[in-house]
Amino acid sequence: MMPFENIKELVEEYKKIWSLNYALSLMSWDRETYMPPADASVRGEVTGVFSELIKEEYLKLNNLVQKYEGKENLSDEEKGFIRVLNREIKYYVKVPIEIIKELDKIISEALIVWRNAKNEGNFGKFKPYLEKIVDLERKIAEYLGYEKHPYNALLDLYEEGFTVDDGDRIFNILLPNLKDILNKVREKGYYPASHPLESVEYEIKDMEKVNREILKLLKMPEDSFRMDVSAHPFTIRISGSDVRITTRYEGKDFKETIYSVVHESGHAIYELLIDKSLEMTPLAQGASTGIHESQSRFWENIIGRSKEFIHLVFPILKNNLSFLKDYDEEELHKYVNTVRPSLTRVDADEVTYNFHIALRYEIEKKLLNEDIKVEELPEIWNDFMEKYLGIRPKNDGEGILQDIHWSQGSIGYFPTYTLGNVVAGMIYSSYKNLKDDISQGNFDNVKSWLREKICKYGATYSPKELLIRAFGKTYDPNDLLKYLREKYLSI
Ligand code: MG
Repeated sequence: MMPFENIKELVEEYKKIWSLNYALSLMSWDRETYMPPADASVRGEVTGVFSELIKEEYLKLNNLVQKYEGKENLSDEEKGFIRVLNREIKYYVKVPIEIIKELDKIISEALIVWRNAKNEGNFGKFKPYLEKIVDLERKIAEYLGYEKHPYNALLDLYEEGFTVDDGDRIFNILLPNLKDILNKVREKGYYPASHPLESVEYEIKDMEKVNREILKLLKMPEDSFRMDVSAHPFTIRISGSDVRITTRYEGKDFKETIYSVVHESGHAIYELLIDKSLEMTPLAQGASTGIHESQSRFWENIIGRSKEFIHLVFPILKNNLSFLKDYDEEELHKYVNTVRPSLTRVDADEVTYNFHIALRYEIEKKLLNEDIKVEELPEIWNDFMEKYLGIRPKNDGEGILQDIHWSQGSIGYFPTYTLGNVVAGMIYSSYKNLKDDISQGNFDNVKSWLREKICKYGATYSPKELLIRAFGKTYDPNDLLKYLREKYLSI
């Protein structure tokens, strides 16, 4: 039986939305890679029109979705189809158009203000915009509705069913244990706090060759995948047979570009492994932002930064980067695994990363509940940094203003980074022969494992249901801690 036999009409209708999204994805990929910059404002207008059309199509589907919703004997895929559509429609139905428009307007202004404020280290400039954004996000939470805590309404937009209760539980387990691991890593002194290779410059053409060879090593399919260059690395799915990533070349500290390639490849592999029978349906996407991030972090950190992987890429690096002539595998392994408390999230290592997220989680939670005010944020931020990592930003540019997310109205997104790490840890715990598969470069095995446990379902199941099916439990931070202890403390 076809997976969508009972909802054929809906499947047909949805193809319009799918096709509009297809075009929109292609346009946004082009905007970030090859578009002549002078076309930016025209492109903005056109993508705005497409987004509006998509919204209208969703609202048109509302009646049809309600018609099928209560139907008996629906398959898991059919139920998933309706569940995902309902989530999209709910946002447009419940949040008044004026609020969405107001938010769009403030966001388009806030982005430029934020960038300047960050460069000047001047929070005062960005403050009125952030106040407006937080105020609108609170209203959106009220319109969407929630149980217990307004933050739950926003968390659910990125990670279905994820709540403050989950977040509190996860961070309460993670933080004291990560502190303990961090202290012990420093006592042992095996993993350095910094490395001389971090300041060595490279030729971009050499690194391009390295990255291409790494993609071959990972067995990325040449007929349905490509890599280009953009200011900020990202992955985009055009369809299940056209998935694209980007990287960037900053000219020094070569691990940055390599690990952006491995990270984005992890996202791409997820998209490529979604079952082809789900194509052109709303299930042809990851289960959630956090589950998506679990794939990228599993490939980047657990595979990519392992001794076994360094052994595999060592010849590629030696052949192409002449400045590595005096370095051996162990030294390279240390270079890609430096551990140090830093002020900047995007520079953070596996041991300290989740402190950066805990801080943002606490701040967002308190902002939504009106426990704190936007004007107090720089102080609160700096106090958290000192409490968690023992360092204090010297200005707001390296503190509260460092991330783009809030200027884009993304409140509730940050915790999904930690969920990505947590779920990557769960994969590590339940994958029996991982070390062997990495040593032998047997990445087809790794992909089959991930496909069967997670990827092939796309968004058929909610993230929690998917985790229970795959691992018999939801987000369990203890597996991540076990991985970190094995890697960093048993040496
Ligand atoms: Mg990512």
